[in-house]
Amino acid sequence: MQERVPLISPSPGTHREIIVYRFGSGSPGPRVYLQAGLHADEWPGLLVLQHLLSRLDSAEQSGLIRGEIVIVPFANPVGLSQNVSGYLAGRFDLVGTGNFNRGFPELADSVPLAVEDKLGMDEQQNRDLVSKAARESIESWVALDEATALKKQLLMLSLGADYVLDLHCDDRTTAHIYAARVQQEAACAMAARLEIETVLLEDLVGPVAFDGTHLKFWYALSEAFPDKPLGRAPLAVTVEYRGQHDVDDALAKEDAERLYHYLGDIGILDLPVQPPDLSVSGVQALPLEGLDVLKAPVAGLVVFHCALEEWVEAGQLFAEIVLLDADQPNQRIPVYTSTSGSVMGLSHRRLVRPGDQVGKIAGEKALDYRKSGQLLQL
Ligand SMILES: [Zn+2]
Repeated sequence: MQERVPLISPSPGTHREIIVYRFGSGSPGPRVYLQAGLHADEWPGLLVLQHLLSRLDSAEQSGLIRGEIVIVPFANPVGLSQNVSGYLAGRFDLVGTGNFNRGFPELADSVPLAVEDKLGMDEQQNRDLVSKAARESIESWVALDEATALKKQLLMLSLGADYVLDLHCDDRTTAHIYAARVQQEAACAMAARLEIETVLLEDLVGPVAFDGTHLKFWYALSEAFPDKPLGRAPLAVTVEYRGQHDVDDALAKEDAERLYHYLGDIGILDLPVQPPDLSVSGVQALPLEGLDVLKAPVAGLVVFHCALEEWVEAGQLFAEIVLLDADQPNQRIPVYTSTSGSVMGLSHRRLVRPGDQVGKIAGEKALDYRKSGQLLQL
C-alpha cells in the first residue's frame, strides 16, 4: 500500500511529500522500518529500495509477510530539491537547520521522565507505556520549518519498529554498518546476511543520529530502572551502501535480495532461510573511536598515496596537499595516518580546505583524538 504524506509548505505555491509503502499492516509479528537518502546526496540506497519494493510486492501476493514492513524510499525531498548551480547539496538544510541526520529530540531525557512513576513488573505494559511516551514526545515537538517537519514525520513512521535501517553512503568506500556497541551481536548477524564486512561500533553518547534516536532512550531506561522488565530495545543501524557513485543496477538488486533474506532471518518474511553462520562470515566489528579520520591541514589539491581497501601502517604517508600558492612550485604538505588498518574511505574532493575530511582508516585501537569526543559526520 502506498501513501503520500505532505510536508508543510515552505513557500507559496510549493509543497513536497514523502511516499510511504506499507506491507502487512496490522499483522502480528515484528515490524521493520527502512529509509534511504536522509542525506539526499547519498543515492545507492534509493535504488536498493526500488528493487526491494518490487520483491516485497511479490512476497505480499504470495502471502509470505509475517510482520509489518514500512519503507520510505526517499526520506528527504527537501534535500533532493537543493540543487545549487547544478550540484546537489543534500547533507545540510540550506535554510539553516543543520545536518539532516542530526537535531532529533532527545528522547533519552523526556521518555524516562514521562514513565518513571508508571513502570511496573509487566513487560508488555511497560513497553506500551514507553512507546506511548516516545510517541507523545515526538508529537509535542514543535516543527515550524519544513526540515524539522520532515524529521518529525520520519520519526512518527519509524518509532515502534523492532528494526530500523537507515540507508546512507560515503564518498568512496566499501559497504559498512554503524551500530551501537550494545547491539554488536545483532548488528554483526545483519552484516553477515547483507555481506557487509565491517561493523563500526559506537556508544550512545552526545547528539545521536536518526538510528541512535531509536535506541538511546531504551538504554537510558534500562539504566534508570534496572529492576523493571522492558524487553529488547529495537535494533537500529545506519547502513553505508558504499560510495556515492556506486549506483549500479546489478549491485542494487543483489543488495535488495540480501535485505529480503534478512527479513526472512528476523521472521518478517516466511522464507526457507537459515541465518548465516557468524563464525565464517568474515564480519569484523571495530570501535568507531578507532576510525582514523584524516583531514587536510591546509588548502590545496589532494593527491592520494593509498588505494581503497589497502592496508596501511600508522605513520604512513596517506596523501599530500599540493600548495598552489607557495613561493616555490609544487610544494606539498604530507598527511600521515594515525593508525594501522584498512583504508575504508577516500574523499571525492580534490581541492580541499583546511579541516576537510580526505580519508578514513578502520583501525582496531581507539585513538586518543577520537576518544576526546570528536564527532564523525555520518
Ligand atoms: Zn549519510
